[in-house]
Amino acid sequence: MTLGYAQGMRSPLAFLSALFSSAPGRTNPLDHDPRLTHMALHDQETGLGNRLSLERAAAGAEPVYVVLFGIDRFEVLRNAIGYDSMAGLLTTVGRRLSGLTGATPVARVGAGVLGLVLRAESDDQAVETAARLCESAQTPVILNGAPVDIALTAGLARTGLINRNVASPVDRASIAIDQARAAHRRAMGFDPVRYGDPAGNLSLISELMAALGNGEFSLNYQPKYDFRAEGVRAVEALARWTHPRRGCVSPDLFVVMAEETGHIRPLTEWVIHQAVKDQAELRRAGHDLMVSVNVSGRLLSDESFADFALAAVKAADARLCFEITETAVVGNPDVALRILDRFTQAGIAVSLDDYGSGLSSLTYLKQIRADELKIDKSFILGLDDSARDALLVKSTIDLAHGLGMKVTAEGVETPTALALLRGMGCDMAQGYLIGRPVSFEALLERLDGPTRKSATVAA
Ligand code: C2E
Ligand code: CA
Ligand code: CA
Repeated sequence: MTLGYAQGMRSPLAFLSALFSSAPGRTNPLDHDPRLTHMALHDQETGLGNRLSLERAAAGAEPVYVVLFGIDRFEVLRNAIGYDSMAGLLTTVGRRLSGLTGATPVARVGAGVLGLVLRAESDDQAVETAARLCESAQTPVILNGAPVDIALTAGLARTGLINRNVASPVDRASIAIDQARAAHRRAMGFDPVRYGDPAGNLSLISELMAALGNGEFSLNYQPKYDFRAEGVRAVEALARWTHPRRGCVSPDLFVVMAEETGHIRPLTEWVIHQAVKDQAELRRAGHDLMVSVNVSGRLLSDESFADFALAAVKAADARLCFEITETAVVGNPDVALRILDRFTQAGIAVSLDDYGSGLSSLTYLKQIRADELKIDKSFILGLDDSARDALLVKSTIDLAHGLGMKVTAEGVETPTALALLRGMGCDMAQGYLIGRPVSFEALLERLDGPTRKSATVAA
């Protein structure tokens, strides 16, 4: 595990830090006024240290670990118990941490974040200690006689290393809290690989729009095997970006970035446009296949996207299925359900993608009338070895059938998984066993089989 790299310090309070440095010939006002010194190094609300005090404690020659403790669900808690009580809660937790470690200072470095400096023999030992501190310090806090439950997540960063992207170890520890939460871990060191290259990503986004226009995007198609028909009756369109310098950019990266920056609509419109065109060509070649397109949940609040999609489908008499993820509907139910209804009315099938990977509530199934439920690959990949996964998959298939939905299992990699799914009454299977995502040309070739291929070659 890597705990990041650090070198110089850079913070909003850097100017105060500069005041502390004893430049020759300059008097430091804080040296003469203890009240000013106290103010500069303490958080006014809680009386704990502040970010600057933590940075100073970490700034020695010897490498140490900056450990930040984030209070989980801070905003929710603050809204429930009020801003004033929150200061008391932070002070209590800060004192606990100080009592457990003897560290001074324990600092408040953000709204719901406390921090301290830790010495440890290794990265692993530091993470282990931080996790134990979280466990010990997160007993309920009594406020106005009532116990308030809290949970802590720790992020760590080692000083004395160099990182171009995030220079300050306090910033790296803060990012590590997010990384720990995303990984469902109690404590974690800053992982530069997971953090990636946000500046590079930003430039990528500015290139995305141009890329859509100049042919850097293409679609791959992955077959969906129909158990009853014993053949491929549908394909899923998956976007691919071949960047002139970076090569293939992962869809997991550009889809998320496009979603975050408002570019998901032009991307999806391009995918629909291309998928409809490819479907028409497939039809001319004698293959009537349903084409699934991934539609980001965010677009289910955009009526003009729905207008575009419906017009595109109508113009080409296309047979599409929109694979959607559940967050959107939960987040914005009224609009999303109205838009989904418009799709259904126009003959577009709706599939609930990645089922089981997120919140997957019964309310979600109750709200949406979908044609298909797609069981997330995380359950299918474990099917061979896990009786528990098998039970969950079987029950989900029965539930979906009961609600009138077809079921597709994605991530089918082994003949055993395929046989199990067939036995469970699953309708369709998708995965590397049946076929990896391939270019449109390769798909056509596969569908045509050896006869047509050799005929073409002969011609
Ligand atoms: P997804 O919709 O869940 O797509 C299935 C992903 O699982 C694809 O990854 C596919 O290559 C991969 N996969 C298929 N079979 C197997 C298997 O047997 N084993 C394993 N381990 N993986 C398998 P891909 O193409 O990298 O796409 C990743 C995600 O990017 C997609 O997940 C989808 O959420 C998103 N995405 C791709 N294209 C688009 C798009 O045009 N629009 C939107 N909104 N999202 C897209
Ligand atoms: Ca999908
Ligand atoms: Ca999926």
